[in-house]
Amino acid sequence: MKRQPPVIELMNVDKVYDTYHALHSISLRIHNGEFFTLLGPSGCGKTTILRLIAGFENPTSGEILLNGSVVTTLPPEKRQVNTVFQDYALFPHMSVAQNIAFGLRMRSISRDEIRERVRTVLEKVDLTQHSNRYPHQLSGGQRQRVALARAVINNPLVLLLDEPFSALDLKLRRQMQKEMKDFQRQLGITFVFVTHDQEEAFALSDRILVMEEGKATQIGTPQEIYEEPANMFVARFVGDINVLPGTVIAVLENERYLVSIYGEEFSIRSKKEFMLHEIIQVLIRPEDMRLNSISAMSEGEPYLEGVIEEVIYKGATVDLYIKLKNGERLLASEFFNEDDPDIDYFRGEPVAIAWVDGWEVVLHHE
Ligand code: ATP
Repeated sequence: MKRQPPVIELMNVDKVYDTYHALHSISLRIHNGEFFTLLGPSGCGKTTILRLIAGFENPTSGEILLNGSVVTTLPPEKRQVNTVFQDYALFPHMSVAQNIAFGLRMRSISRDEIRERVRTVLEKVDLTQHSNRYPHQLSGGQRQRVALARAVINNPLVLLLDEPFSALDLKLRRQMQKEMKDFQRQLGITFVFVTHDQEEAFALSDRILVMEEGKATQIGTPQEIYEEPANMFVARFVGDINVLPGTVIAVLENERYLVSIYGEEFSIRSKKEFMLHEIIQVLIRPEDMRLNSISAMSEGEPYLEGVIEEVIYKGATVDLYIKLKNGERLLASEFFNEDDPDIDYFRGEPVAIAWVDGWEVVLHHE
């Protein structure tokens, strides 16, 4: 059987605006039915990629393919791609049903078919009751659902969404994220979503492209990106992380290294290759840290010694800021259990700090 081509493929795409080099040799493949997210800080080039896929811009060099066909310079209306814009761009003088039907009316489709398709999509976005309302009579979340319905009514191959939740408050944002994911699963359409919010990207996406200054830094599932960040930028961008400077003092068997961190020797696991005496960075997520009282540590078990500086209860978890003897600060996050006296840390308490063996990420020094 012939393998399906990716729905979207970018091959070595560069974009230069006047003199500004906005994208550097971006290559990526997005598969049919994927929820794919472009994640990165403001100005890193996310919207530019979306506009190139939609056809609102042409690349300076490189190729763009949709379903295996080159579309690099095709105008937007010739691509089976629709966009949901940040401000939804609804027509204020048209009802919900008229807004949704607009794209179909522009094509010669029978009134009966339009009515039926609008009815079906209204049901999917749960707006049947509001079909005669005008945009100003809807909530922010409802307006967004109209925009979604309008964008999917002509069954595009791909739906592009540029920060569609930015106008919503946090609670509604969470609710719409869930709805968006359900909606995408139900439709089976490929979604390409732009956000600078890592939590949102993780909650929604099958895969994520993390971008940094116009470059594609890492592509992977949320778990891969969180647990195996490609570099320090990604590691810091997708969550809190502790960075410990280390020196390789022995190369051991089974992908292990003996590493000196602030004078203590830890056995650390990594699939990457490091040289003897190499200066490295050992990264540990706060939730992977393990704290103990110093007296509970066994003879020969390595740990860093610190003092609890701040305890912040967050409901299900507690964040502990710890100051090491050398003045460096670390963050540990533990699940909070009222019945567990071990979690009852207080400011000024000395603690032994270690982490779950094998869960550290090791990077070459940048
Ligand atoms: P944001 O999250 O702030 O929307 P983004 O990651 O989507 O940011 P882009 O809108 O893709 O970023 O912009 C990438 C870079 O290209 C920015 O530095 C921006 O100023 C620049 N840029 C975008 N459009 C143009 C243009 N038409 N002319 C010149 N520079 C542009």
